Amino acid sequence: MIHTEYDAVVIGSGPNGLAAAITLQQKGLSVLIIEGKDEIGGGLRSAELTLPGFVHDICSAIHPLAIGSPFFETLPLNQHGLEYIIPEIAAAHPFDDGREAVVYNSLHKTAKSLGIDEKAYLNLMEPVVNDWPGIASDVLGPLTFPKKPLDMAAFGLKALTSATFLSKRFKKKEAKGLWAGMAAHSIQPLTNLSTSAIGLVLLLSAHRKGWPIPKGGSAQIAKALASYFLSLGGKIETGRFVTSLDQLPSSKAVFFDVTPRQLLKIAGHKFSSIYKWQLERYRYGMGVFKMDWALDGPVNFKTEGASRAGTVHIGNTLEEIVLSEKEMASGIHSEKPYMLLAQQSLFDPTRAPEGKHTVWAYCHVPNGSTKDMSGIMEKQIERFAPGFRDQILGRHTMNTAEMETYNPNYIGGDINGGIIDIGQIFTRPALRSSPYRTSAKGLYLCSSSTPPGGGVHGMCGYHAAKRALKDVFKIR
Ligand SMILES: Cc1cc2nc3c(=O)[nH]c(=O)nc-3n(C[C@H](O)[C@H](O)[C@H](O)COP(=O)(O)OP(=O)(O)OC[C@H]3O[C@@H](n4cnc5c(N)ncnc54)[C@H](O)[C@@H]3O)c2cc1C
Repeated sequence: MIHTEYDAVVIGSGPNGLAAAITLQQKGLSVLIIEGKDEIGGGLRSAELTLPGFVHDICSAIHPLAIGSPFFETLPLNQHGLEYIIPEIAAAHPFDDGREAVVYNSLHKTAKSLGIDEKAYLNLMEPVVNDWPGIASDVLGPLTFPKKPLDMAAFGLKALTSATFLSKRFKKKEAKGLWAGMAAHSIQPLTNLSTSAIGLVLLLSAHRKGWPIPKGGSAQIAKALASYFLSLGGKIETGRFVTSLDQLPSSKAVFFDVTPRQLLKIAGHKFSSIYKWQLERYRYGMGVFKMDWALDGPVNFKTEGASRAGTVHIGNTLEEIVLSEKEMASGIHSEKPYMLLAQQSLFDPTRAPEGKHTVWAYCHVPNGSTKDMSGIMEKQIERFAPGFRDQILGRHTMNTAEMETYNPNYIGGDINGGIIDIGQIFTRPALRSSPYRTSAKGLYLCSSSTPPGGGVHGMCGYHAAKRALKDVFKIR
């Protein structure tokens, strides 16, 4: 038997790298995580980006997928410092005419607030909310025969349609706009097939466990995962950016929390020509322009729900959101971009000095865009919260190039590790019996470029580790 320094090495400490490492370490293996940056976390870091005392989430902010993750919920993360704060209003969606649509944690309260569309909302959401526990692990994993085929089929019939098609269930602009704002998290034109999937998952998450904010910043999720991993005996090394397999200590398996483009650079010479060909064809989607503000008070939204919501979708009507996503995807910078905005400090006083507030937002932009969207984004917020600009004490911006410099996984500003459209939803990064296995023995991909894709849930890392436990370590 060949002696190796570690059973497994994980390159990258995003939520998926951490999840893979924990899954392996829990089985008594020896695992080393190597992180290129000085701080662990990938998309889970928080910092004083604007002014001292204002703590901003650099990447992810709102965590319905983390609190609902079938893997994370098995871990004792609360004993490792993680505390979720759950706003009663998950999301609000204001309109130009001063009206708004609101997603409460309560399914029935939300449905009722949609008036004439109450029944349509319940018909759409009640079955998926109720069926979710039986289908979650299949939806959030590689393509397999589902445990509950009928429930899965019912979910799939809705999820695989385009968001514009499903919007026809609603009569009024409030429900239609609300639905478009949810589905636009898919970061692609809403006429694309399967754009309903993320809208459904986000809405059902709101109605099951809410959309939580980690107390102290999203970095607290990474810190809790890392603390638990270390408590099991795992090792973490930071500040070592991997460019070649030769830099790694010997191990039986290597996990890459990176996207196909980087994987090819680091390990391409080990792969079969067909696998290399597949990875070279992997597609990336739109990028994001990210902004953070330090404010001298809470945002004065014109509507009450938006003033009390953890997340606000800025984008007005379904038609406006459909147009802006279509423009951005075809390389045109929309003048009225759809925006996601989070106001963590309303619920978490650790984020800003007393009486002051933080706001986090991003809009989608063409992949690789270097356009400064700050003026356009602030104008969009002003539509629904007049006086916003006067409240600004400090601002911080990141265009797609700065996003990619910050984290090389954000190719051209794509925050999902590759577009999650119908062509890549099941086969990311390539059509294979296991999407986590590369063509080289012992090398695994564990990032959001594998199923189920982007978001902080750790399920890509968990499934990649489970695959290697069977293949390499013969552990079930
Ligand atoms: C602006 C923004 C907002 C977001 N908002 C949300 C949100 O609100 N909710 C949500 O659920 N998700 C959100 N996301 C998405 C979420 O952050 C990602 O989907 C998630 O972090 C992906 O996890 P990962 O482990 O696959 O990769 P990452 O989190 O990207 O981690 C990869 C890690 O690998 C390291 N690495 C890369 N290459 C190397 C190398 N060669 N050597 C060593 N280390 C390397 C990187 O430094 C990084 O730490 C957001 C992302 C962004 C950018």
